[in-house]
Amino acid sequence: MKVLKFPLKTERLKLPRLKEKLFNELIKYLTDDDISKIEKAYEFAKESHKGTKRYSGDDYIVHPVTIAYSLSRLRMDQATIIASLLHDTIEDTSIEVNDIRKAFSTEVATIVESVTKLSNIKINKSWFPLGKTTHEKISEYERQIGTIRKMLIAMSRDVRVIFIKLADKIHNLETLKFLPPDKQERIAKEAIEIYAPIAGRLGMGEWRGLLEDLSFPFVYPEESRKIKELAIPEIKEREKYLKRITVKLKKILSENKIKHEINFRAKKWYSLFRKLNKYNDDLDKIHDLIAVRIIVNSIEDCYAVLGLIHADWRPLVGKIKDYIALPKPNGYKSIHTTVFADEGQIVEFQVRTKEMHHQAEFGIAANWIYQEKKVSKLPSKNDLKWIDEFNKLSRNIKSPEELFKSLTMDLFEDRIFVFTPQGDVKDLPQGATPVDFAYYVHTALGNHCSGAKINGKIAQLNSKLQNGDIVEIIEKKNAHPHSDWLNFTKTSHARSQIKKVTKGQL
Ligand code: MN
Repeated sequence: MKVLKFPLKTERLKLPRLKEKLFNELIKYLTDDDISKIEKAYEFAKESHKGTKRYSGDDYIVHPVTIAYSLSRLRMDQATIIASLLHDTIEDTSIEVNDIRKAFSTEVATIVESVTKLSNIKINKSWFPLGKTTHEKISEYERQIGTIRKMLIAMSRDVRVIFIKLADKIHNLETLKFLPPDKQERIAKEAIEIYAPIAGRLGMGEWRGLLEDLSFPFVYPEESRKIKELAIPEIKEREKYLKRITVKLKKILSENKIKHEINFRAKKWYSLFRKLNKYNDDLDKIHDLIAVRIIVNSIEDCYAVLGLIHADWRPLVGKIKDYIALPKPNGYKSIHTTVFADEGQIVEFQVRTKEMHHQAEFGIAANWIYQEKKVSKLPSKNDLKWIDEFNKLSRNIKSPEELFKSLTMDLFEDRIFVFTPQGDVKDLPQGATPVDFAYYVHTALGNHCSGAKINGKIAQLNSKLQNGDIVEIIEKKNAHPHSDWLNFTKTSHARSQIKKVTKGQL
C-alpha cells in the first residue's frame, strides 16, 4: 500500500534546478504538446520579468516558477500551469491581457486576469483589529472577514484562480522575512484570516496548515515563540511514548490481517495556539498534540481498527467521532477516538482510508490528482452552500477539463460585493443600486440619501453597482425617499422602507 506524500512546502530552490524540477513533474502527467506550450510560457514570463528582482534578491522569475512547481505537484492542467507562470505579468510588467490571449489562449488570459483582479483588492488594515477587541467587535469583524472571503471566491469565478492565488500566497509567505516589517504583518494577517480559511473550506488541509504556520510568527511573534518553547520538549516525549504504543498496535493489526500504514501527525503550530487559547494554555488538555494516524485499505477496516483499539484501551466518553458516517462540511472523513492507553497516557487515534487521507490533505484538488479513483461522494447536507455546490458538481466528473468547467464559480453569481469609503465590505444582490446600499448600511442613511459617489465619481442613484465598487452616500437632512426609487431598488429592506416613508405621497 502506498500513501502518496507531497511535501508541498517549497524549499527555496535556485533557477536551473527549480525549472528542472518543474518539468520533471510535468512530464509525469502532461503531453509533449502541453509541455512545449508551457516551455513557451516560461520563456515569455522570463522575458517579461527580465531585470526585476524579488526582495529576496532572486530573479523575479523564480517566484512564478515556484508556484507552477507547487501546482504541478497537484497535477494541475496545462492552462493553470501556464497561467501561474504568467500570473504577475499584467500587474508588474507592460504585458496586457490581450498579449496573453494572442500568445496563448482566452482561457489562460481569463485566469491571469482574475488572479490580477484578486491581487488588486487591497485588504484594508483596519479590517484586522488585533488583540484588544470587544466581543461585539469580534463578531462584526468575523462577519466582515467572512464576507471578504466570499467576495474573493466570487471574484475568482474559476477555482483554478484560487489555487494559483493560494500557491502565490504560500511562496510570498516563505519569502516574507525579506520584506519590510510593516508589509510583513499585513500580508501575514491577510493570509491567516482570509486565505487559510478558504483553503480550509476547499478541504485543503495541507495548504491551510502551511498558510497558517508560515504567517503565525509574523502575526503573533511572542505567542509563536512561547508555544514552540512550551511544546517542543513535550512533543519529543510524546513521540518516544507513541513509538512504544505503535509497536503494540502494529502487532495487533497484523494478527488480525489488516494492512495498514501508521504515522504520527504533530499538531500544526497555529492550530495548537488556537486550541491552547481555549484551554487556558494547559498543554495537558491537548490530547492530539501528536495524533496517531492509521491508514487502511477499506472502510470496513477503519471500523475493525476502531474495535481493536477499543478492545485494548478504554475510550474517553464523547471523544469518538465518526466523520465517515458524518463527514465534516468540507468533505473531511476519518474516525477519531481518544483512549486511555498504556502507562496512564491519553492518545488520539485517527483512522482513515488512503482516499480519505488524500481528500483531507488536498481537498477538492484530490479529485483530479487521483483521477483514476472514482470521486468519493461528499456530504450533501451542510450550511455552506457553495461547498455543497462543489460537492454536487464533482460527483459525476469524468475529466479534469470537465471538472474545471463545472467548477467555474457562478455560485455567487447573484451577489455583488462593494465597499464603504472606510473599506467595509457589503454584499448585495446583483443589480443593486446606491439606494440599496444606503439602506443596507443604515435605514436613516437610506431615508436621507440625496446622491452617491461610486469610486469617487458622482453617480446616479439608479446606477447598477459592480463588484469591488467603493460607494459613498451623500446624505442631506432634508432629503427624502421618492416613490420612483421603487423602480430600480432590489433589496426588500430598501423597498419596504421606501414604501413606508412614501405612503403619504401617493
Ligand atoms: Mn505573485
